[in-house]
Amino acid sequence: MNNEILTKAKNVIAERRRDAEKIAENSYAKFSQHPEFKKLYNEYVDCMITSAKTGQTSPELEAKKSAYQAWLNQHNCRDVSPVYSCKKCEDNGYINGQMCDCLKKEITKVLIKQSGFQNLEDFDKSDFNKFENKEEMQKLYKIMQDWCNQEKHSKTLIFLSGGTGVGKTHLIKCMANELIKRSKVVNLTTAFALNQDLVSAFSTFDSYKKDQTLQKYLDCEYLFIDDLGSEIKQQLSINLLYAILNERKMRSLSTIITSNLDVKDIRDVYDERIASRIIDKQSSICIQLNGNDLRLKKN
Ligand SMILES: [Zn+2]
Repeated sequence: MNNEILTKAKNVIAERRRDAEKIAENSYAKFSQHPEFKKLYNEYVDCMITSAKTGQTSPELEAKKSAYQAWLNQHNCRDVSPVYSCKKCEDNGYINGQMCDCLKKEITKVLIKQSGFQNLEDFDKSDFNKFENKEEMQKLYKIMQDWCNQEKHSKTLIFLSGGTGVGKTHLIKCMANELIKRSKVVNLTTAFALNQDLVSAFSTFDSYKKDQTLQKYLDCEYLFIDDLGSEIKQQLSINLLYAILNERKMRSLSTIITSNLDVKDIRDVYDERIASRIIDKQSSICIQLNGNDLRLKKN
C-alpha cells in the first residue's frame, strides 16, 4: 500500500479514536466530582478487574454496571466509556492484524479525492429515461451491479467502450459506489490523471517515489481507469500501463476501463500486448456501448 495514502487514512481513524476518548475523559472528569458517581464507578471498575483476572463474568459485575449506568440516566448524563465510531475495531483500523472495513473506506476516500473525482452515482437512483433504449441500459446496469456484488469474479477486467455521451462514466461511478458500500478498496482515476502521475514519478531518479506511485494502482482491490483514449503516448507510460494491467491480473485484482476507442483502435493506438490483455477471453468482459441504441437522448 502507498505509505502516504495509508498514513492519511490511519490518521483519520486515529483522530476518531482520540475524539471518542477525549469526550469520555471529559465526561468522567465532570461526573467524578459527584462522590456518589465516583463510588459507583470505582466499584464497577474494581469488579471488572476481578472478573478479568478470573476470566469469568459475575452477576455482581452486571449489577455494578447497572448501578452506575442508572446514576448516569438519572442525572441525564452520557456514558463515560468511549463511544467509538467503529464498533468492530474500536477505531483502531485493524482487527487481528487485518485492515478493518472502516480503514479500507478511508483509504478509498483518499485515493478518489487524489484522482479528482467528487460525486459518485447510485445504481438505485439511476434515471433510465434519458436513454433511448431504456430496457437495454437497465439490463446492462443490472449486470454490472450484480458483478459488483459477486464475492469472486471469474473475469477481472471489464472494458466498456463507446462514444461520448453513452453514460460510461456514470456507470463506473455507480459501480465504484456499489463497491465502496461493500467496503472494498477502490481507486477511480482518469487515464489522463494516471498518465500524469506515472510520468511525474518515473521522470525522476527517485525509486521510492516510483514504487509508491505504482502501489496506488496495484494495491487497490478495484481500479477504474476512465476514458482511456490516445493521451498515453510515451512508450514509458504504455509500458507502465501494461505492467499495471498485467500485475493486477496476476494478483486477481479487478480493473475496469472505459474508452471511446474500440478494441481495434486500442491495438492501433497502444500495442498488441495491451490490446490482448484487454480482450483476453479468459479474463475479460468487453462491452460495446455505441450505435443509435445507446445514444443519449437529446435534451
Ligand atoms: Zn473499524
